[in-house]
Amino acid sequence: MKRVTHFAFRFTLLLLLTLFTSSSYAEPILINKIEAKRDRGFDYLDIYSSSDAPAKGLLLENQLILEFPGAKISSNITIEKRKSTRIQNIRVSGSKVIIDLKKGIDYDLVSVFGRGKTVVEISDRLDEAEKIIAAWEKRNLALVGAPLKSKKLTPTFKGGLSGKVIVVDPGHGGKDPGAESVTGVQEKTLTLATAQKLAKQLSALGATVYLTRDDDSTSNLKQIVAFTNKIKPALFISVHYNYSSIKDVSGTETYYYSGQSRPLAVAVHEALTQSLGKKDRGLRRAMFYAIHHAGVPAILIEPLYLSSYNDEKLAKSADFQEKIAQAVAQGVKNYFRVK
Ligand SMILES: [Zn+2]
Repeated sequence: MKRVTHFAFRFTLLLLLTLFTSSSYAEPILINKIEAKRDRGFDYLDIYSSSDAPAKGLLLENQLILEFPGAKISSNITIEKRKSTRIQNIRVSGSKVIIDLKKGIDYDLVSVFGRGKTVVEISDRLDEAEKIIAAWEKRNLALVGAPLKSKKLTPTFKGGLSGKVIVVDPGHGGKDPGAESVTGVQEKTLTLATAQKLAKQLSALGATVYLTRDDDSTSNLKQIVAFTNKIKPALFISVHYNYSSIKDVSGTETYYYSGQSRPLAVAVHEALTQSLGKKDRGLRRAMFYAIHHAGVPAILIEPLYLSSYNDEKLAKSADFQEKIAQAVAQGVKNYFRVK
C-alpha cells in the first residue's frame, strides 16, 4: 500500500513537472530571417518568425527601429540585404532590428497573421511640412501682438511631476489662424483645445504649467521665446497640427532642434505613435524658431494632419485630443522616469 502511494505521488509529481515545463518554458518565438526586396519603386523587408510576432516601429532621424514584443531575435538570424537608395544597412542590436537610412522615408508595417511574417514597406518621404512651417514663421514674426496673455496653472495634486515647471504653447492664435483643415476648421482652435487638456493633465501630475495663451489672443514667436527664457521651465512643448497639399499624407511627427531636447523628443514621439496608432512620420530635427531659441529642452508636436480626412476628424474630437494630451503626458513622465 505504501509503495503504491509512493508511486502515485512520484507519477503525479512527474506529470505536474511536465505540464509546468511545457507551459512556462515554452519555446520563445524567434525572429530568424530578414529578406530585403524591391518592387515597383518600394523597398520591402520581409521579416520571418517561428510564429506570429507583430513588430512595433519607431522612426528616428536616420533610423527605423523595430521591436518585437513577445519574441526574441535568433542568434542565427540571416539578413539578406540588397542595394537600395534608401537603406544603408540592416542590423541587429540587442532585442531590436535597426535599419540605417540614407534619406527620409515613410514606412508601413503589415503583419501577415498565421504566416509568421511581417512586411515593412518603405518609400520616399512625402514632405512639405518643414517648408510650410518655415513660411508661417516668417509671417508670424512680422505680427505685432499685444503683450503675451499667459496663464499659470498651479498643481492640483502632488504627483510625479511635482516641482517641475512646464511651458505649454498652443500654436498660433488670434490674427494667426494657422492651417485650415479639410472642413474649414482653423488650426489655432484645435491647438488651444489640445494644449489646455495637456496643461490640465500635467498639472494633475503635480507640475506647475504655464500656457502661453488661454484664449484666442495673437502670440508672436519672439514673445513666446522671451517668456519661456524668463520662466526657465524644465521643458517647453509647442502644440501644432500638420498640413500638406498632398491629401494622402497623414500621421504623427515630432520636432526638436537642440541636442538637449532630443531625449524628450524621443520619449514623446514614442508615446504618441504607440498610443495614437497613427502613421509614424518620424522624429525630426528642424530649426523652427521657438524650439531653436528656447534655452530649455523644447519640442514641437504635430500629432495629426488637418489636410487628411481621417486625421482631421480625430483632431476635432475632444476624446482624441484628450488621448493626445495623455500620450504627451506619458512621454513627459517617461522622460523624467516617473511612474
Ligand atoms: Zn501650426
